Amino acid sequence: MAFNLPQKIPNDETTVFTVMTRLASENKAINLGQGFPDFACPTQLAELVTHYISKGFNQYAPMNGVKELREQISQKIRALYGREYCPDKEITITAGATQAIFTAILSCVERDDEVLIIEPAFDSYLPAIYLAGGTPVPVQMKLQHDTKTKQLTYALPWNEINASITDKTRLIIINSPHNPTGTVWTQQDIENLYNAIKNRNILVISDEVYEHMVFKPYHFFSAASHRELADRSFVISSFGKTFHVTGWKIAYVAAPQALTKIFQKVHQYNVFSVNHPIQYAIADYLSDPHHYLKLSDFYQEKRDFFQAGLQQTPFQLLKQEGTYFQCVSYKDLNIPQSQLSEFDFCTWLTKEIGVNAIPLSSFYLNRHENGHIRFCFAKQKSTLENALERLFKLNEKV
Ligand code: GLN
Repeated sequence: MAFNLPQKIPNDETTVFTVMTRLASENKAINLGQGFPDFACPTQLAELVTHYISKGFNQYAPMNGVKELREQISQKIRALYGREYCPDKEITITAGATQAIFTAILSCVERDDEVLIIEPAFDSYLPAIYLAGGTPVPVQMKLQHDTKTKQLTYALPWNEINASITDKTRLIIINSPHNPTGTVWTQQDIENLYNAIKNRNILVISDEVYEHMVFKPYHFFSAASHRELADRSFVISSFGKTFHVTGWKIAYVAAPQALTKIFQKVHQYNVFSVNHPIQYAIADYLSDPHHYLKLSDFYQEKRDFFQAGLQQTPFQLLKQEGTYFQCVSYKDLNIPQSQLSEFDFCTWLTKEIGVNAIPLSSFYLNRHENGHIRFCFAKQKSTLENALERLFKLNEKV
């Protein structure tokens, strides 16, 4: 019998990260596409996990997460951003940030609610909005030249954001430091957002998973650092990014009590609870702030090294302020492939040059094309050297 299967997500695409990682391994290319480190996690953290497994923390964790971890998160946020979240009533441990975002969207979006997203936007936002019955309202960042550095940069489109807010807007999803562009919101941006929504019944999801990767002279401003904005925000961050363990799928949501309540109503039936021994291990590891405060310097060194190499290729570098991603434009390369779509260019680069990247078009509802691709530099120096060596071959082609 042929079933008439529902089409709850309107497109049939497999996420670009799966597609590109598969393509990289099929072609033995260096994978600078999907964002993950290719180096080991801290030994101490791995040992702590083993310790808690052998101590017997192998059954269900509490639904909202292990208390010790919620307390550490609360302390961290207070120290860095000045807001006090109650560990018992305002923090939830989740199975990664994607689940946290998904659950937050499901918990507050009702049928036909509008959800404003700022494109390019991480590819999990749209499907979650559709599944919640909401209507995505994409607003596109503006490509412009930075007045100081003259580099091409993606800037926040405040006029368009303000113009897109309607009586139906229920939620805005923001992301700083921004994946894929590397833009970091300023304090003024946070203030602008608050002014845009303060008199309306609009909630905010602030995806801050790259919060500890912000490069000089830029500073990170969390939604948690703005008192009134934080009153209506789900603030989400990820240990996978901060401690080089993307495969552990562990993150958290900090939100005022009423928001946490609606979040947990969904969370308890969605995943119920998260990996128990890992929560204890991270609680111990998080108690030393050096373990996350040193991260920006660690990645800035990698970024500077990678940028210096890319500058010797025909790519044009886009401005980069945070995250472990570097975007480049291939539009002005003097080769026939510069006319390809971003997806096809990434496919060609993977097969012919041996380096995998992510097309920015995958971060747009309408697959908008600017001729920009994203490299991940969360890699050992030798990996970056090998990738650059291959990219230098482009010089012979142009
Ligand atoms: N966040 C990572 C990236 O942007 C990958 C996430 C994923 O593979 N789903 O590359």
